[in-house]
Amino acid sequence: MPVSGLGEYDDQNVFARILSGEIPCRRVFEDDWALAFHDIAPQAPVHVLVIPKARYVSMADFTARGSAGEIAGFFRAVGAVARQLELETPGYRILANMGPDSGQEVPHFHVHIFGGKPLGPMLAR
Ligand code: AMP
Repeated sequence: MPVSGLGEYDDQNVFARILSGEIPCRRVFEDDWALAFHDIAPQAPVHVLVIPKARYVSMADFTARGSAGEIAGFFRAVGAVARQLELETPGYRILANMGPDSGQEVPHFHVHIFGGKPLGPMLAR
């Protein structure tokens, strides 16, 4: 059972359909734990999404139900993606929206990686 307020996992959500190959993506990285692809509506020169391969609706769900291997594998993948994108020297930002106050739109856990320019204040005011 998911633990967040987002409800049961929806197998028709857009990231599930990307994982199944039903919807294309601009893939940048894939391993046993994660898939990374360019955001369709980038908000920075580099804007990549990293998603776990298994069915988790949110950060809350992933960190409650994910195994230690899944969680470690996923966050290592986030770091590997940023490294592959050559963002470590200039720096980058990661962000995960969780639930209504965050504006989370897609109910499959994902981490945004932003980079490619100085990113300004941490939150929009
Ligand atoms: P969030 O608001 O954190 O749930 O972010 C969802 C993100 O998914 C947004 O930045 C969207 O632009 C992005 N997105 C939605 N559909 C697609 C798609 N088909 N391919 C790539 N990114 C997408």
